[in-house]
Amino acid sequence: MAKLTEEQKRQRAAKRALRSALEAETDDRRRRERDEQWEREDTRLSWAEYVAGEPCRGCGLPMTDELGSWPPLMKLSEVEKREYEEANQKFRQRHTDCRAARWTVSGSRVTHCCFCCPPPPMGPKQLEKLAKLFASWPSREERKKDLDSWDLTLRCDHVVPYIQHRENTRVSTRVVDCPECGERRGVVSSERVGPAYRDDGTIRERAAADRERLARELAAAEAKLTRQQKNAAATQQRIAELQEELGSES
Ligand SMILES: [Zn+2]
Ligand SMILES: [Zn+2]
Ligand SMILES: [Zn+2]
Repeated sequence: MAKLTEEQKRQRAAKRALRSALEAETDDRRRRERDEQWEREDTRLSWAEYVAGEPCRGCGLPMTDELGSWPPLMKLSEVEKREYEEANQKFRQRHTDCRAARWTVSGSRVTHCCFCCPPPPMGPKQLEKLAKLFASWPSREERKKDLDSWDLTLRCDHVVPYIQHRENTRVSTRVVDCPECGERRGVVSSERVGPAYRDDGTIRERAAADRERLARELAAAEAKLTRQQKNAAATQQRIAELQEELGSES
């Protein structure tokens, strides 16, 4: 097979990125519609309902069977193995189109679907832990120092800013709101711009960040043009040489 040129490789990568952004959009829509339905139909259990033993309103199964988690597969008895396989098969039949992972309540063998079944509610202990964690965070002003701004290019070709902690080496969010389109749009590519806030805590203007990015792109384009001009000059030189040769022979 002929080797792909750099341009062909670039085009293929761009196509892949676009396809993946569109898939992410579809999945995002599907999950948002489901969340709205859960909201409308009050599908999530409250803590009181959960404690009272109400079944999952996503799949109808009990939240927990209190049988204890499954032992490691290698250690299952023959009967347990059969039970495990049956449960697995039933789950797959019930959730063929969910394309989602599974969850279980600890100490239970009932498997719930990460798409159809709302996760168990948080209990008072968990909430307390979470509150403590939030309280231990540095202040908002402190955190600003560690935030970077990124430029996300969306599949509609709009570029939107995105702010996240500097430790992140990439943007894992796959769909964001596009203010220009007024729609959720898939992310095609992302580029780190730099610190999101100035030393005095004010947000760096989007325009300034954009100007920097444009300046970088311009410099790259200029370098490319210079290379092309050099190539063109060399080709012109070669043509002149050939013409001369041809002229001297005739
Ligand atoms: Zn369920
Ligand atoms: Zn499901
Ligand atoms: Zn857009």
